[in-house]
Amino acid sequence: MNTHPGHLRIGEKAKSFLRQEKKLLIDGKWVPARSGKVFDTYDPGTGQVIAQVPEGDAADVDDAVKAARRAFEGPWRRISPSERGRLIWKIADLLEKNADELAELEVLNNGKPLSNARNSDVVLSADMFRYMAGWATKITGETLSISTPGTYHTFTVREPIGVVGQIIPWNAPLLMLAWKVAPALATGCTIVLKPAEQTPLTALRFGELAQEAGIPDGVINIVTGFGPTAGAAMASHPDVDKIAFTGSSEVGRIIVKAAAGNLKKVSLELGGKSPVIVFPDADLSLAIPRVTQGIFANSGQVCTAGSRLFAHKKVFDRIVDGIAQQAGKINVGHGLDEGVQMGPVISPVQCDRVMGYIEQGRAAGATVAAGGTRIGEEGNFIAPTVLTGTRPDMAVVQEEIFGPVLCAMSFDDDDLEHIARQANDTVFGLAGSVWTRDLSVAHKMVRLIRAGRIGVNIHGSVDAAIPTGGFKQSGWGREKGHEGLNLYTETKSVIMSL
Ligand code: NAP
Ligand code: MG
Repeated sequence: MNTHPGHLRIGEKAKSFLRQEKKLLIDGKWVPARSGKVFDTYDPGTGQVIAQVPEGDAADVDDAVKAARRAFEGPWRRISPSERGRLIWKIADLLEKNADELAELEVLNNGKPLSNARNSDVVLSADMFRYMAGWATKITGETLSISTPGTYHTFTVREPIGVVGQIIPWNAPLLMLAWKVAPALATGCTIVLKPAEQTPLTALRFGELAQEAGIPDGVINIVTGFGPTAGAAMASHPDVDKIAFTGSSEVGRIIVKAAAGNLKKVSLELGGKSPVIVFPDADLSLAIPRVTQGIFANSGQVCTAGSRLFAHKKVFDRIVDGIAQQAGKINVGHGLDEGVQMGPVISPVQCDRVMGYIEQGRAAGATVAAGGTRIGEEGNFIAPTVLTGTRPDMAVVQEEIFGPVLCAMSFDDDDLEHIARQANDTVFGLAGSVWTRDLSVAHKMVRLIRAGRIGVNIHGSVDAAIPTGGFKQSGWGREKGHEGLNLYTETKSVIMSL
């Protein structure tokens, strides 16, 4: 593994952005935190500090909310849907134009392999803005036929919800930003965004690009800082109309409580523990690489990761051996190194947390079929890990690990309801996948699994058109797709007596 500092191997543009003093974006101006405080941000591949960013708190959030309110009631409200769409499209163009720089910043701050950041995160982020740019001109209500005696013209209009607070995680910093910001802009809302404390950089660079695109002052405000201060101030702020949050279920609950003060609307994209169910007739040559990818992509730091494998006894050994072999071949290293397929986990804390789960699983009787160890002395690298002999009562099977750890279990009956009961046996319901060539089994399983997104012979897709969100404790509401617009609009019913 290479141990040289990542920041020496990035392009001039990313270097120059790193050197620049970081500020908060409030009302179209770049300002320091009112407290003057800053905090360090790291390269998870080396553990080195790469930049400092302002530590925004309640005072800065309050400034940002005021700016967002002014913009909502002023220029942004009056701009035509077509012009809004054009501005959003322009953001997508600028993301593409600056893709190399954004990808390098993402790798340095998040750790993921450069090819993934460049060809997946940045491309998908641009695509999300384009998708939502198209919707800006297609937000419509309905005309209604009512039976109340008299003559009426009755219709609905969908109006922007107002000032939205958006709190995002570190696993795909730019893409999570795109999922939040694009629909809020398309519907005409204004935004206060708080990136995760670990990954503020691409959000700040995005702020510059949004200005370059011509987004009016105050429409997008970006406050870097910590969850319990800046995040909490957004969630409890009396003049924020809505909070959109992605992260842990634990913080989701805190946000719901904080939002109760002004009963602001809340949407939540929370944790998952998604089942992967492999039937004996499945095409294993397809299933093995895709299930491997479904858990180890992004070092397992994906809310929809397929982290619980249920394979029929007839194919269990073959699929587990296949996945363990592939896991062993994954090239783990610094995201900027050539040929690296999996980067570090985000932080030393997360690394200890994941290793703690692996130890706990082992102590409870699980067998390590692949990985199970840290890699190297520097950076937060964990070998892709497969645990067998896991049981439903183990913490590794019930809790979201958010790291490269697959728990494999077998089933040996054909009772689909019984199989689905095992798959549904967690508090989560975010995603799942079914692997079979039998159409009837596939359709029945799709109905039986209680989750917001189900793949058949694929674990999933993050396409902008696909609504994503959770059943049960995996969240409230659906992001992306046409349905994602509902998170940012209110329905107004109008009854006119003629
Ligand atoms: P987290 O704390 O839930 O972080 C998500 C976002 O919420 C961050 O921007 C965070 O700020 C903010 N936040 C934290 N406390 C807050 C509060 N009291 N009020 C308002 N906002 C608050 O997640 P984490 O600590 O980074 O990771 C812990 C675990 O969460 C992971 O191991 C994983 O299991 C899960 N997770 C899940 C997802 C997902 O997409 N499902 C994403 C990330 C993490 P800070 O950055 O300052 O904490
Ligand atoms: Mg946190």
